[in-house]
Amino acid sequence: RLGADEFVLLLPRLNADPLEATKQIQAVAGKIFDALRQPYQIEQMEVSCSASMGVSVFGQGQETVAELLKRAELAMYQAKAAGRDTLRFFEPRMQAMVSARIALEAAMREAIREQQFELYYQPQCNDLGHIIGVEALLRWRHPLRGLVSPAEFIPLAEETGLILPIGNWVLQTACRQIASWAAQASLSALTIAVNVSARQFQQAEFVDQVLAQLRSTGANPHRLKLELTESMLVSQVEEMIAKMKALKAHGVSFSLDDFGTGYSSLAYLKRLPLDQLKIDQGFVRDILTDADDVAIARMVIALADSMGLVVIAEGVETEKQRELLASLGCHNYQGYLFSKPVPIQELEALVNRV
Ligand code: C2E
Ligand code: CA
Ligand code: CA
Repeated sequence: RLGADEFVLLLPRLNADPLEATKQIQAVAGKIFDALRQPYQIEQMEVSCSASMGVSVFGQGQETVAELLKRAELAMYQAKAAGRDTLRFFEPRMQAMVSARIALEAAMREAIREQQFELYYQPQCNDLGHIIGVEALLRWRHPLRGLVSPAEFIPLAEETGLILPIGNWVLQTACRQIASWAAQASLSALTIAVNVSARQFQQAEFVDQVLAQLRSTGANPHRLKLELTESMLVSQVEEMIAKMKALKAHGVSFSLDDFGTGYSSLAYLKRLPLDQLKIDQGFVRDILTDADDVAIARMVIALADSMGLVVIAEGVETEKQRELLASLGCHNYQGYLFSKPVPIQELEALVNRV
């Protein structure tokens, strides 16, 4: 306690990476805010506390104790000015990083409320160029920034847990689409592949959520494919297998996305009830010039064959790439060669054209 209502807290073992350190600091601060916020009794009155926190990060230069305290104090005054119960960093770069993340998180919450999310669909084709299914890809139509790529917001959505409501919306929208296609001959056989993030899949209620969406929309479960990634395979494999089996029993199928980029153990892989392996676009990009990529594609195709799985290549942009993949034994493709991801009306027009 420095004096009166001022306290100093020292966090000596933070991550060397500034972004990670920022997260650690925010986590500790969050706990303190939560603890102080708890109401308590003074005689007949219930009271609670707020706090303003200023953070100065040290260890880079030769700062003196007095300097550090001065910086923390300045940051603390900024926190006070910004309204109580908040935290400010002295370091402008860190503050900018934190502010950008907070702004993005707030904007995502608004996007959920204001229904700014849309699904685009990218065709998946066979050797004859026929569309056999689509992958649903999330788009955010931001009122000022226009279309925002999922690569920009999915990572933060995962960290903040916002991926749960967003992912559920994606599932629901895809299931509705499947149901509405059921009565149309040209569309009723199409599968929709939905990307599922680790955090979403790891929820205890995941299986129930998917089944509830299928039930409430009336979608045929055989038309729904879930795309999982290798990075999910590192933990809780038994639970993962159990969830997959439960959904498979209803007809839902599974594809392993970005295959080859992680390091999943083949022993695990064999035990997963998968239907499809997706060759990552990173291996397709230079497949015409890079012998290593050819070797990897050949390996994935052989593996898929031996496990009785379908193999699909993503990021196929040229006919030459497609021919090479076909010669290696891969007969399903997704990529700009056929179409980029498009809104639903365009997708339906593409299917009905042939
Ligand atoms: P992904 O699942 O690997 O999706 C494939 C990405 O490659 C898509 O980017 C797609 O637009 C792009 N792509 C397709 N064909 C080609 C091609 O021929 N060449 C090139 N260069 N790129 C191609 P997008 O739509 O920006 O999505 C990025 C990532 O965001 C996805 O990667 C996926 O991991 C994630 N994502 C998208 N939608 C969802 C969603 O609904 N839920 C979750 N959890 N993640 C999603
Ligand atoms: Ca995918
Ligand atoms: Ca992928």
